[in-house]
Amino acid sequence: MKLNELQLTNPYLELPAECYDRVTPTPLVDPYLIHANTDVAKVLNIDEEELQTEAFVKFLNGEYKAEGSEPFAMCYAGHQFGYFVPRLGDGRAINIGTLDKYHLQLKGAGITEYSRNGDGRAVLRSSIREYLMSEAMQGLSIPTTLCLGLIGSEHQVRREKIEKGAIVCRVSSSWVRFGTFEYYAHQGLFKELEALADYVIEENFPHHSGKENRYTLLFNDVMIITARLMAQWMSVGFNHGVMNTDNMSIAGLTIDYGPYAFLDDFRHENICNHTDVEGRYSFASQPEIAKWNLRSLMMALSPLSSTEKMEKNLAMYDKIYIRYFHYYMCKKLGFEGTIEGDPELIDDMLDMLEQLHVDYTLFLRTLSHYEGDRAALLSTGLYHEPMNAWLDRYDARIKDIDNTVRKEQMLAANPKYVLKNYMLQEAIDAAEKGDFSVVNDLFKIAQNPFDEHPEFERWAGATPQEFKNQKLSCSS
Ligand code: AMP
Ligand code: MG
Repeated sequence: MKLNELQLTNPYLELPAECYDRVTPTPLVDPYLIHANTDVAKVLNIDEEELQTEAFVKFLNGEYKAEGSEPFAMCYAGHQFGYFVPRLGDGRAINIGTLDKYHLQLKGAGITEYSRNGDGRAVLRSSIREYLMSEAMQGLSIPTTLCLGLIGSEHQVRREKIEKGAIVCRVSSSWVRFGTFEYYAHQGLFKELEALADYVIEENFPHHSGKENRYTLLFNDVMIITARLMAQWMSVGFNHGVMNTDNMSIAGLTIDYGPYAFLDDFRHENICNHTDVEGRYSFASQPEIAKWNLRSLMMALSPLSSTEKMEKNLAMYDKIYIRYFHYYMCKKLGFEGTIEGDPELIDDMLDMLEQLHVDYTLFLRTLSHYEGDRAALLSTGLYHEPMNAWLDRYDARIKDIDNTVRKEQMLAANPKYVLKNYMLQEAIDAAEKGDFSVVNDLFKIAQNPFDEHPEFERWAGATPQEFKNQKLSCSS
């Protein structure tokens, strides 16, 4: 379909007026296309040729309003670093409408009712990070919001220094957050709370639609998909960095990419967010923090559903999380299922990697090629000893598994490439000078992280020492 044939709808606007605020995007000055996502365009049924047109840049810049679009920002609250903030909302993301079941948002398109002291903008640096990382998550089959396109501009945006403004057009089956429910519960707006819950059920959990106990079932489903998402993050070594309840998707998606990081050397207590002094959102804390956030959601849903029943559901979280975690880790280790002794083998591997300062992604990819010769594996660490002892146990575990089958499974479960922060920084540095070739290259890796890509071999090794485990600022 051509852009001028698109017919957007706005189902969120059928909710009570307290749920959103209508707003017109404020376009950036001198916008230009940096990247367009042809896969996402295909899903949205937008013709590929349209992506290279001036109209597409205008569409991403909020200048070209597609048929049916009624732009608005969503209202929500949230617990930030454990403290409740009663009113947040989309301070710089503007919803421009829905295509099929996908909601389109322009992030960085100007001030809204919820901008507070912010400028409604997103800088090029953080927009590139969101654009590439959401595609990388998709490439790893981890639930995520997506991006249709990324534009840059000459628009000056003040952060610690002056930077250039950009916009990503984000696409998701839901932009509702745990914090959206918290807003109405806290305000005592129970009719709005119920309308929102029914909207979410209709849209993302239609199998519970119309059932009497649907709100309890909704909570239970969100608990399960959140546990699964945490297991996926933990198995791939992803540290989100800002797991506030306003950054938790009701649809179990990875959402709001900020100062995130993929682990370099494996480290349980990795902290990627510079602001997170206490390590509330450290790598190892993520499953427990997600449970804390689910408890906040439970409290918000308590006017609609029995707290006792939801408590019972939440009590299952730890077990469900760990089952999923073992499932994903056993896949990565090449096992057919999880048997007695596997959980210890997994935990001991992680401790061993931490002790030896081994790059997490590199180790598992190298292990995928392992057929008895340990040289390549041993060279990933500083010392041989704990690794040799662990490999003895691994040898015993895989002795009855067909090597070819195991290798095939492992190469499809252990990416050769993840987008580490030093790689993203290289793309950002080049982009700030007007060279988008590294963005293009990283996008290719992001889409197919399990492929060999011999031309990008330099990114397949351990992170260079000087770039390891760096923290990033939230300012974006
Ligand atoms: P985040 O930490 O990115 O999830 O943002 C937390 C809240 O601050 C959200 O409500 C954002 O919309 C808002 N926000 C972040 N940056 C800006 C900005 N530059 N202008 C307006 N609002 C912002
Ligand atoms: Mg956010």
